[in-house]
Amino acid sequence: MTRLIIMGPPGSGKGTQAEHIAHHFAIPAISTGDLFRAHVRDKTTLGAEAGKYMDHGEFVPDGITTAMVSQRLEEPDAGAGFLLDGFPRTVAQVDALEDLLSAKQQPLDAVLALSVDDDELVARMLRRAQEQGRSDDTESVIQRRLELYRDETAAVVSAYSKRGILLIVDGSGDREQITAKAIAAVESALTG
Ligand code: ADP
Repeated sequence: MTRLIIMGPPGSGKGTQAEHIAHHFAIPAISTGDLFRAHVRDKTTLGAEAGKYMDHGEFVPDGITTAMVSQRLEEPDAGAGFLLDGFPRTVAQVDALEDLLSAKQQPLDAVLALSVDDDELVARMLRRAQEQGRSDDTESVIQRRLELYRDETAAVVSAYSKRGILLIVDGSGDREQITAKAIAAVESALTG
């Protein structure tokens, strides 16, 4: 059983890495953004509530988010472990996840943080914006998103760093090499 979290700034390729890493460990990659979008699409009660916040680019309240993750972790495929993507994003969520997992005696194995320098992230996102013909993805907007990400995650990163389970992986360069580095870091943490 492998229980992991992945974090990474916008433009870091986190979603793609999550899929490949989860595949290697034969665990589901669980993205809270995807889960919320599925609830909105299926018009569930939770989706109706969450949609109000998502429409404004705001965080869905911790209680709703945690309840959804808790429910998802009860599904059979998560019996093998999981890789969470997009959760936890607040210290309250870090604590809620801890409570949830300690009740099941299933501690987290590792938290992967992809690190990519800002210059490379900006360059990648500008390139992507150009390829997709978007004009709103300007350098200043991109800088702002990176800033928000840092503000948002600083406390979460530091919480896991204090617990001694944070693994920082260099997220620049070749997709496959980054996946390999992340897997190697997790495996060495697992074997202690
Ligand atoms: P982004 O990385 O652009 O924020 P996501 O797909 O991760 O996109 O999330 C989409 C939306 O879902 C967020 O804007 C937020 O409203 C909601 N969301 C996702 N994860 C969380 C979370 N852990 N806590 C609160 N809201 C969340």
